[in-house]
Amino acid sequence: MRKKRVLVTGGAGFLGSHLCDRLIKDDCDVICVDNLFTGSKDNIRHLLSNPYFEFIRHDVIQPIFVECDQIYNLACPASPLWYQKDPIYTTKTSLYGAFNTLGLAKRTGARILQSSTSEVYGDPECNPQTEDYRGCVNTIGPRSCYDEGKRVAETLFFDYHRKHGVDIKVMRIFNTYGPRMDIGDGRVVSNFIVQALKNEDITIYGDGSQTRSFCYVDDLIEGMVRLMNSRDGFTGPVNIGNPGEFTIKELAEIVIELTGSSSKLIYKELPQDDPTQRRPDITLAKKELDWEPTIQLREGLMSTIEYFRQVI
Ligand code: NAD
Ligand code: UDP
Repeated sequence: MRKKRVLVTGGAGFLGSHLCDRLIKDDCDVICVDNLFTGSKDNIRHLLSNPYFEFIRHDVIQPIFVECDQIYNLACPASPLWYQKDPIYTTKTSLYGAFNTLGLAKRTGARILQSSTSEVYGDPECNPQTEDYRGCVNTIGPRSCYDEGKRVAETLFFDYHRKHGVDIKVMRIFNTYGPRMDIGDGRVVSNFIVQALKNEDITIYGDGSQTRSFCYVDDLIEGMVRLMNSRDGFTGPVNIGNPGEFTIKELAEIVIELTGSSSKLIYKELPQDDPTQRRPDITLAKKELDWEPTIQLREGLMSTIEYFRQVI
């Protein structure tokens, strides 16, 4: 029997490369499309000699013509540091990336999954966030290129579904961490671990009372694959994340403890529009996907710390 052909945009990035590993393990024929903006060939080097893995250097802003059965659309910088470097390009990536992959899904009949984000909730007025919460998002701030790009991508997904019957799945990913995060990525988990391992000051933005919920990458990938293969007609959006909620200061203290570091906490200015709280309500994922995270923060951090020890 022919293997399932699966296209992964953003496949050389942090989440995308773990997804490619999982799909190869699941006996799929994987096409990885990435322009290496924030991703790296190092993340997929071990797959390059596999005849069922193909890397195409391509920008999703341009249309892509391949034949496939499933599409995971992950291409987009995810770290605030990187998505704000060229905000116009970030919006273009979300918008044209959605257009082009949806057009491909329409032509080929492939099922398509969008990696959306908890950022569609902006700075939420309720905690935890359920999928029916419509969000509190600034349209003109420094994070808007990412937040609004992801929001309009969701809109396009649902319009292609309603107008053209495209088989869509929309996943709202909450903060995820693990091995293969780039050392210079700028997100909080990688920043704190790298700072702690080097015994440098740990940079807390604001007073560290803002909260996030951190999901380990293996749990996230399991949720993503389950969503892709979920029952016909279930589109989402569905939250995938770990409901354990921690302040950023707590995270810093745990990282110092687990690394045995002599780093000190220092406080820097809080970036504009930095959300004050974030925690997924995962009732829907439990019900529809029989999914919940299995790896708690300390355990996931230990594996991530081991990874960064080797990289540094
Ligand atoms: P990442 O930056 O490691 O990966 C993104 C990948 O997309 C990179 O390999 C990059 O080179 C590629 N890319 C960017 N722009 C592109 C373009 N125009 N054309 C082709 N490739 C392009 O980030 P990640 O954490 O792996 O995130 C993957 C996806 O998951 C993103 O869509 C992100 O918005 C979403 N997401 C991630 C998180 C998280 O915590 N990791 C949270 C919410 C949503
Ligand atoms: N943060 C921090 N120090 C850092 C990096 C980030 O205190 O070195 C904070 C950031 O202000 C935010 C939280 O950690 O409140 C999560 O930031 P990240 O960039 O990882 O993701 P976000 O959820 O903001 O997109």
